[in-house]
Amino acid sequence: MTTIYLDNNATTQVAADVLAVMLPYFGNLYGNPSSMHTFGGQLGKRIVRAREQTAACLDADPAEVLFTSCGSESDNAAIRGILEANPDKRHIVTTRVEHPAVLNFCQFLRKRGYEVTFLGVDSLGRLDLDELRDSLRPDTAIVSVMYANNETGVIFPIEEIGQIVKAREIPFHVDAVQAIGKIPLRLRSSAIDLLSLSGHKLHAPKGIGVLYIRKGVRWTPFIIGGHQERNRRGGTENAASIVGLGRACELAVANLAEEVSRVARLRDRLESGIIASVPNVRVNGDQEHRLPNTTNISFEYIEGEAILLLLDQHGICASSGSACTSGSLEPSHVLRAMGVPFTAAHGSIRFSLSRYNTDSEVETVIGVLPEIIGRLRAISPFWKDFLEQQAASRG
Ligand code: PLP
Repeated sequence: MTTIYLDNNATTQVAADVLAVMLPYFGNLYGNPSSMHTFGGQLGKRIVRAREQTAACLDADPAEVLFTSCGSESDNAAIRGILEANPDKRHIVTTRVEHPAVLNFCQFLRKRGYEVTFLGVDSLGRLDLDELRDSLRPDTAIVSVMYANNETGVIFPIEEIGQIVKAREIPFHVDAVQAIGKIPLRLRSSAIDLLSLSGHKLHAPKGIGVLYIRKGVRWTPFIIGGHQERNRRGGTENAASIVGLGRACELAVANLAEEVSRVARLRDRLESGIIASVPNVRVNGDQEHRLPNTTNISFEYIEGEAILLLLDQHGICASSGSACTSGSLEPSHVLRAMGVPFTAAHGSIRFSLSRYNTDSEVETVIGVLPEIIGRLRAISPFWKDFLEQQAASRG
């Protein structure tokens, strides 16, 4: 059975080109980039090049690019570094729909005595900019808002938010882990002060991330050690992954427009095919401002996990919004913040596509879903109740 991978917001396949540039670092090129000798020094030069490639993808200065181990580290380091550098400011503004790398870290900081404002969203997952404006205070240390939501794909108006935050001279952090490679990022002309990225969402490997820190922003490093990364993150560089990320950034920029329209066409076909063949489905989130690769669909009155298991039997990989990893089967915090009804939130599935998906894969999914949903609804007490209510209302 071949795999149909529609879970690219979870992680992506490493591009063949990316793997090719990485392999020498697991073979002959094993030196330490900080060494004085030529053997190690050649790695240092490749890291310089990768930093330039990454900076070019962001329209930033290479000196503003700091390599980290993942998106979660970048998010933590961005917020922590600003708080450390501004010890008198004890208030943080973020949203209720952030990734746990921001959300749980802010909850942790709250227990440490910081005040945190968690901004809500409307039923389409949109922020209220007046609420944001009203939340800012003289002691606000940082505003941290994601560019695009990993579950729904909803894109926040980052530049508008940035203008509001900058008018108050507050550092502005953006988690762009899901945006890179899907939305053009031009940091030189933006209001963003700090920005987080993760390699494995961009066809680079797991275990590499980026924190962009605008020149002049007061920020304190978290990992104190050697002089690597201009004294901003101690630790011998992950040379192979850094070089791979540089190449992945180059590929993302080179093919962005073409990829975005191709992937969006596939996503739209998947979405309309499902809507046409399965009753009682709803697409969650603002469809006008949404990542081109993501659709979050609720199949009402059944459990998302059961759908995933049956999709898995066809080799189809997708994701559900429930926090099943915690064992609680609580519906996703994002859908809850949007007020999605219980019977829809529980049956939500996220399909997220990439450059490697094909028309025939999409048609396969559209073909198998009606039977899967029908089977699950046939044994669902919520679906039975719904049908009875419908019959009663028809008299
Ligand atoms: N932020 C967002 C929006 C994400 O989607 C993710 C991963 O899913 C992260 C942060 C964390 O990235 P990483 O897995 O590299 O730690």
